[in-house]
Amino acid sequence: MAQGKIGVTTENIFPVIKKFLYSDHDIFVRELVANAVDASQKMKALASSGDFKGELGDMTIRVALDEKKKTLTITDRGIGMTEEEVDKYINQIAFSSAGEFLEKYKEQIGSIIGHFGLGFYSAFMVSEKVEIETLSWKEGSKGVKWECSGDPEYKMSECDKEDRGTVITLYLDEESKEFAEEGKINSLLTKYCKFMPIPICFGKKKEWKDGKYVDTDNDNIINNTEPLWAKKPADLKDEDYMNFYKELYPMQDAPLFYIHLNVDYPFNLTGILYFPKVKDQMELTRNKIQLYCNQMFVTDSVENIVPEFLTLLHGVIDSPDIPLNVSRSYLQSDANVKKISGYITKKVADRLEDIAKNDKAEFESKWDNLKLFIEYGMLTDEKFCERAQKFALLKNTDGKYFNYEDYRKAVETEQTNKDKKVVFLYTTNAVNQFQYIEAAKNKGYDVLVFDCGLDAHFVNLIENKLENVSLARVDSDSIDKLIVKGDVAKFEISEEDQKKLTEVFESILPKENNYIVTVENLGENAQPILITQSEFMRRYRDMAALGGGMNFYGEMPDSYNITVNAENPVIKKIMGDAGVSALTADNTLLKQVSDLALLANNMLKGKELSDFIKRSESLL
Ligand code: ADP
Repeated sequence: MAQGKIGVTTENIFPVIKKFLYSDHDIFVRELVANAVDASQKMKALASSGDFKGELGDMTIRVALDEKKKTLTITDRGIGMTEEEVDKYINQIAFSSAGEFLEKYKEQIGSIIGHFGLGFYSAFMVSEKVEIETLSWKEGSKGVKWECSGDPEYKMSECDKEDRGTVITLYLDEESKEFAEEGKINSLLTKYCKFMPIPICFGKKKEWKDGKYVDTDNDNIINNTEPLWAKKPADLKDEDYMNFYKELYPMQDAPLFYIHLNVDYPFNLTGILYFPKVKDQMELTRNKIQLYCNQMFVTDSVENIVPEFLTLLHGVIDSPDIPLNVSRSYLQSDANVKKISGYITKKVADRLEDIAKNDKAEFESKWDNLKLFIEYGMLTDEKFCERAQKFALLKNTDGKYFNYEDYRKAVETEQTNKDKKVVFLYTTNAVNQFQYIEAAKNKGYDVLVFDCGLDAHFVNLIENKLENVSLARVDSDSIDKLIVKGDVAKFEISEEDQKKLTEVFESILPKENNYIVTVENLGENAQPILITQSEFMRRYRDMAALGGGMNFYGEMPDSYNITVNAENPVIKKIMGDAGVSALTADNTLLKQVSDLALLANNMLKGKELSDFIKRSESLL
C-alpha cells in the first residue's frame, strides 16, 4: 500500500475546485462519463488495430446510484489503468498554476474543465470521498484501488478486480444530497450524455404496474450512440431529420427546413441546423443550438461561435475545432471560429437559395414563417444580406410573392416616377390603410405588405440595397404625390388664405398633433380631406420605437399632412364661390368631412367620436 500527496503545487486544489466550480457543479457527471467513454473508445481502437486480441464483450458504461448510501458509481470496460498510470494521470496532475488559472477563467470554467485535465477532479465538487478501482487491459496487470477524501492525501493499494476497466465511486457529501436522487442523475445524464458514442445504462427501464412504476429486466440506455448528424447525408431521408428534431425539441412545431453540415477541411465540423417556424418576434428563442465536441455536450449558448442571426436556428453543431479553453470574447477573433462562422452562414444561404430556385412553391408557402429570420439576417450580417437579396421575397396585398428583381420588373412600367425611380408602395396594415390601398390600386399600382416587427428597419435596408428604388407607405401622401409622374398643377393660394386654412384645421382637429394643410386638385372622385403622415417622419419614429438610436424622432409630436381636395363636390359646396376664405371652423359640413377623414385613419376617439355620431344622426 502506498500513500502520498497529490502532485499539485497549489497547496490544496480541492477548496479551489469547490469554490469556483460551485455554480456549475452539474458537469462532474459529464466529466466522469466522458472519461469512461474515452477509455472505452481507446479499448475499441486497440481491438480493431489488433493490439488487443481478446474479447471486447459488452462495452456498456453503467451508472448506478445508491440513494441510501449516497454513492454514485460509474463503471466502464475500457482500457483501465496500471498502478503507474494511476500515479501518472491521477496523482501527478501537472497544473502548477491551477489556482491562478481557475481564478482567471472562473466564468467559463464549465466548458474548460474537461480540456485541462481537471475532469476527474470535478468529482470532488460533490464528494467527500472518491474511490477508483481499475484493471488495465495489459496482460498481467493487477487491480489498483485509489482513495482520496478531498484533501491532497491519497491511498493506493492493490485490489482483486477481475474485470477489465474502471469503477469510480463517489461518496456524495452533505451539500450535494440533491445528486443522490434518481431523477436528478437521470436528467443530468440526458442533458450531458445524450449522444455520447458508447451506450450508457442507468438502472432498468420502468413500466407502469399496479398503480406504480416498477423496474423491468431491460437496461435503461439513456443515449443515442449514433446521432443523425454523425451519419452520411446520402443515407438519410427527410423523415429522419424531422424525427431527430422531435428528439431534440419534443415540444416544438415541426421545423421549416433543415441543413446537414459536414466538412472536414480546413476544420472539422458536422451538425444539423433547423429553421424553426416563427411568426413573430416574441417566438424567437435564442440558444437552441447545442454545441458538441465529439458527441459530448459542451454548451447551448453558441453566441460568438455562429453569427448572431443564426442563433435563432435550432439544431446541433459538433466540432472538435472550436477552442473551449479561451475566453468567450476571444472566441470571436479566433481564426478557426471565424472560418466556421463564415462556413455556416454560407451553407445557410446556399440551402435557402437552392430551395427558392428549385422548389419555388415550397419556398413561397413557408415564406411568412421564414421572413423574420431572413430579414433579421439581412439587417445584421452584410455577407448574408448580399446572398439573400437573390432569394428573399416580397409579398403583395393579393398574397402573391416576388423576388426583388421580378417585382421591379412587374411594377416599373406603371410605378416609375419622373425622376426615373421605381416607387415600391407598401402597407403596414391592409385593414387600417384600406382606402389608400384602394386609391393606389385604382391607379393601376401594386401594394406590398410589410407588416412584421422588423419592417421599419427593413424598408430602409432595401431602399439602400436596390438601385433606383424608393419605398413609400401607401398612406404617406396623396397617391399622385407618392408617385409623381409629371409637373403637378399647383393650386394657387394666397398667404392670407393659407394662414386662415391652417387656423381652421388647427381648431377642429385633435390639438396634440402638428398639421401642414394644403389644397390640391385630387379629382372629384377622391376623398374631400386626406390625412397622411410623411414617409420620412413616420419611418424614423417607427425605428425609434423599435430601438434604433433615433430618440430625437421618437420624442417629437406627431405631424400630419392635411390635403383638402378642391375638386371634391362637398368641398366645393363648403367653399362656395368665395373659395378658401369662406371656410370657418364652425361649418358643420367641414367638421363632418374632417371627422370622416380622422375616422378613416383610426384617429377619431372618445368624445369626438360620440359628437360625430350625434352630428351624423342629426344631419340624416
Ligand atoms: P482528461 O480526461 O482531460 O485527460 P482527467 O483528469 O479527467 O483529464 O483524467 C486524467 C487521465 O486519467 C485521463 O487522461 C486518463 O488517462 C485517465 N483516466 C481518467 N478516467 C479514466 C477511466 N475511466 N479509465 C481509464 N483512464 C482514465
